[in-house]
Amino acid sequence: MPRRPSGMIHVVHIVPLADLFFCAQCLEDAPREDVPKLRSRLIGHRKKDQALRYRHSEKRRCSCRSQSVLAEEVEQDFSRLVNTLQVDHHAIQLMAELAVEAGFGSLADEDKANLEAQKE
Ligand SMILES: [Zn+2]
Repeated sequence: MPRRPSGMIHVVHIVPLADLFFCAQCLEDAPREDVPKLRSRLIGHRKKDQALRYRHSEKRRCSCRSQSVLAEEVEQDFSRLVNTLQVDHHAIQLMAELAVEAGFGSLADEDKANLEAQKE
């Protein structure tokens, strides 16, 4: 087995919500500066012997005092939020169709046919 170069990440962490959330302070500042790309996404981060966290991107600094939060807290909050959602069963069909159109546009015709068959 080839030896890994020093400095490589040895443990892979699953950070399911990475890049899905933005820093609230950056969100507040972005419209004021009229530069939407200044919104900073939260990314997964773990220091040795510490808990996994979501942290502010280092590419942008803002006035936010807290630059990271425990991943467990964010994921529990997200889970609670999702569990409170109530979707009208009539809307599920439309949502499935929109998801197919948006996310599976590059599927082969055979895969599209399979997805259409699953909707019925
Ligand atoms: Zn920020």
